[in-house]
Parts: sequence; C-alpha cells; structure tokens
Amino acid sequence: MLLTITTTHQPATDLGYLLGKNPERTQSFELPFGEGHVYYPEATTERCTAALLLDVDPIGLVRRAQGADGFALSQYTNDRPYVSSSFLSVAIGRVFGQALSGRSRDRAELCETAIPLEARLAVLPIRGGEAFVRALFEPLGYELEIERHQLDADFPQWGDSPYCTITLRATLRLQDLLRHLTVLVPVLDDNKHYWVGSDEVDKLLARGEGWLAAHPQREAIAQRYLRHQRSLTREALARLTDDDEPEPIAKEDEHHRQEEALERKLTLNDQRLQAVLSALRRHGVRRVVDVGCGEGRLLRELVRDRTFERIVGMDVSPTSLERASARLRIDELSERRRARIELIQGSLTYRDKRLAGFDAACAVEVIEHIDATRLAAFEHVLFEAAGPACVIVTTPNVEYNVRFETLPAGKLRHRDHRFEWTRAEFEDWANGVAQRHGYEVVFEPIGPVDPEVGAPTQMGVFTR
Ligand code: SAH
Repeated sequence: MLLTITTTHQPATDLGYLLGKNPERTQSFELPFGEGHVYYPEATTERCTAALLLDVDPIGLVRRAQGADGFALSQYTNDRPYVSSSFLSVAIGRVFGQALSGRSRDRAELCETAIPLEARLAVLPIRGGEAFVRALFEPLGYELEIERHQLDADFPQWGDSPYCTITLRATLRLQDLLRHLTVLVPVLDDNKHYWVGSDEVDKLLARGEGWLAAHPQREAIAQRYLRHQRSLTREALARLTDDDEPEPIAKEDEHHRQEEALERKLTLNDQRLQAVLSALRRHGVRRVVDVGCGEGRLLRELVRDRTFERIVGMDVSPTSLERASARLRIDELSERRRARIELIQGSLTYRDKRLAGFDAACAVEVIEHIDATRLAAFEHVLFEAAGPACVIVTTPNVEYNVRFETLPAGKLRHRDHRFEWTRAEFEDWANGVAQRHGYEVVFEPIGPVDPEVGAPTQMGVFTR
C-alpha cells in the first residue's frame, strides 16, 4: 500500500521539513506489522512528492494475533498486506508523528499555513461505494478523483472490485490532511487490525478536532472508526457535541434522548456552516465578509482555518455583534489572530465602501429577514457595489416546513422572517440577480433531501 503526498507550494522541497524526512534519503522504519519506507519520487523547487510505502508481513501478523479465530486460510490469504487500512493510520502516526501533531522544528510557520496538497492512496478498499467516499471527503473541501479497479483485468465482464485508487486535492495545512487520512482511511476500510477500547475515542476526538463535529457524516465516521461498538460511538458523539465527560450509565438513556433532540437541531446548522465553508474553500477564497453575521457562528469556523486571511462580520444589530464578539472571545485572541478578524455594524440595504475588496461574501439565513421591498437595495449593495467574485446565499426552503412536526401549518420558522421561499421562488430570484450582474449561480440543497419537498435549506453559490 502506497500513500504519496505532493505539494507545489514553493520551495516545494520544504515538504521534507514538514514531514521531518530528508528528501535526499530513503528511510525505513520497523512497524508493529511490518516495515514502512519513506522516499521522494520527485523533489524539485516547483514540485515535491513524498511516498510512504508499507510492507505488511502477513505471516508475522498471524503469529502475533493470539487466539485469532475464523477461517484459517483467510488469515494468510487476505487483502490486508495490500490495501490502505488502519495500518496506514498507525504508520502515519509513527513515521510522520510530528507533522500529524502540527509541529516542525525548522518550519513552524509553514505548519500553520494552508498549502496546495495532493494525496494519492493506492489501493483503498471502499466499503460503502463511491458515493460514500465523496460524502466523506468532499465536505472537507477536497477535489476528488476515484479510479476503480477491475476485479480481474483478464475478465472485464466480472466488473469492478471494491478497490480503488483515489486522489485528493485541496489547499490546507499538512496536519489537517494527515488527520483526515488517519481517521477516514480506516473508516472506508471498515475493519480494524486491533481491538478498539475507549482510548480510541480519545484518539478519534483528537484527530477529529476542528472538523469532525460539523461533518455531515460524523455518525457513520464514529460508528465505523469505533468498529460499530455502540457505547463507544455514543460516547464519541456526545463528547463531540459538548465537551463534558460522559454521564454515568444510569442517566445515559435520558441523556441520549435529550441529545438526540438537540442534535437534530445542531445538525442542520452545522451542515449549513459546513456547506458554506466547503464552497468557500472550493473557490480558493481568502478574504471573506459574512453579512448579517448574527452571533458569529460562521465567523468562529472561519477563524479556525488559516486559509482565511481576512474575515469581516457585518450586522445591523449591535446586540448580535456583542454576542459575536463574546463568542469569538475577540478580547482574548492573540495579536495575530485578532488582525485577521473584524466586526462592523452596518446595514445591507445601504451602500457601504467597507464591503469592497473581498473574494467572497456570505449571507447565511439573512435575505428572509429583509423586507421584500428592500431586496432590490440589498441586491445592489452586494452584487453591484461590492461585487465580490463569489457570493453565497442560503435561505429556508418553505416547502420543507410541512416536515417540521412542531411547526403549525402555514407558519414561518422564525417570527422575524419577512418571507420564506419555495425552491422555484429562490431560484427565480437568484437567476435574475445573476443575469443582471454578470454572475453564474448554482444551487445546492442543505440537509436531508426529501423526495417531495426538497431539503430544509437551500443555497445559491454565485461566481463570476
Ligand atoms: N448569519 C447568521 C445570522 C442569521 S439571522 C447565522 O446564520 O447564524 C439574520 C441576521 O441578519 C440577524 O443577525 C440580523 O440582525 C441581520 N440582518 C437583518 N437585516 C439586516 C440588514 N439590513 N443589514 C445587516 N444585517 C441584517
């Protein structure tokens, strides 16, 4: 099994410093299940690739597994030596441990910087199919290529095997790439070579910090990572949504019910943030203004990701801005972080010079708070006067309201909403805006898509 990591961030050979492995030498490492080798197939200033090759010893594995049961021959003849699995995660931890924890003796600054990275994994078992691979990696902002392998090249009529080679591309910190891989590769394989105990929950949460809580597939991820052990999965999910220690068993059931109710609420909001973040990453946005930022939920996610160099939140309500400031703990931020973020008070229905000079503007659940008669002004301010290359707008899909059990028929979701649109109404408005101001717009559903009424939230991504 082979993992290669390529960067074109210049000088590309700095990858050697980040990984703590010299590009000039091949190095080998003893691992609990065989050997790992690190080498660089290419190392120039423009482009550098590091390879981690694992040589798993199947005989040794069987000898070490005391009391392993099951089909005797399958202990010797199986895919374990050849595919990316939890062995790869262990190897990354051992061989690239420093990079995984975001440390570098010689390039501390670069460790914290998002750089263009490409990872190629051969061969990856995909239990759950291609759609599942996409559902795991795309919300994290990766561009993905999947190459399926035939079961047998001599017999193409047998069809595809459950194995593929995948290539992931994104601009992010190397530590984030490695943390995503150490969690998601074993999740795809859905098989672990060692017993999982509760310290695996700690490991999952440590490696999932900053991305797992808001991942739309977090339940499937926790379940598979923890080998479908329900109590561990429940503990992991509980700790993901609040930082407290798990409750004693007696209270667990009640706690679990409360949490489920809470989670349903959290999920849609998290999914919305995740969808907006991944659109911003996909479009290479560095300077972003969040208009109608409210209490700063999106801002908090943006600050955590260093790709975003300049972050401004604007809202008409001073109370919301105060809450945002508290949520972001602006007063406690380091000098450097504080320089990246600013909160401003202003209205979106009046032209504002401070809205110029951004790569993107986001209006998350804002338009429905603006009087229909003021929408033309909003359109002018955002798309004409400010006119960033990318504008992201989300709004409720009113058709979905019938699926909210607690919402009386015909009622809007929030008392300050001036309107809520159907998908056709939103798309009409957005297509008109795009046409009038030279943008293209694509629509994306957010949240579970109901075959009849669509998803609870709709998003339009405008670009030009
Ligand atoms: N984007 C946030 C808040 C959504 S609530 C989130 O997703 O959590 C809508 C926000 O839009 C409120 O904070 C409200 O104060 C703000 N807002 C409403 N009309 C506005 C206007 N004309 N100009 C600026 N902000 C406005």
